[in-house]
Amino acid sequence: MTAREKFNRTRHRIGYVSLVGSLVAITAVTIIMANNAMNALPFFALGMLIAFIGFAYGMCFGYRCPHCDYSCHAMCVFSGKQMFRVNPHFQFCPFCGTDIDMEVSVTDEAGTASSV
Ligand SMILES: [Zn+2]
Repeated sequence: MTAREKFNRTRHRIGYVSLVGSLVAITAVTIIMANNAMNALPFFALGMLIAFIGFAYGMCFGYRCPHCDYSCHAMCVFSGKQMFRVNPHFQFCPFCGTDIDMEVSVTDEAGTASSV
């Protein structure tokens, strides 16, 4: 797996979590505005919390370079218009200079190492 694939996978996950949180919040606002039902307010807060947690996780832990472990979130999130993939012009880690398309050995969530 390359660093770019790892960043894209993280971007997918965070994008979907933020999308679900935003949809819950928008649905709650719609219910509140249509029915003046303020009891949907906790669902708005829950949706915003889900979206924020997804975004904050990505900023803190999601876009770490597999070579130097510094966060490349600025290049992965703020440098492109694509919602679910990293900017294709992002080629090298700004901290260690490693090509992000180079194959690396990564450890997945189960703790098994793979070097593909
Ligand atoms: Zn690096």
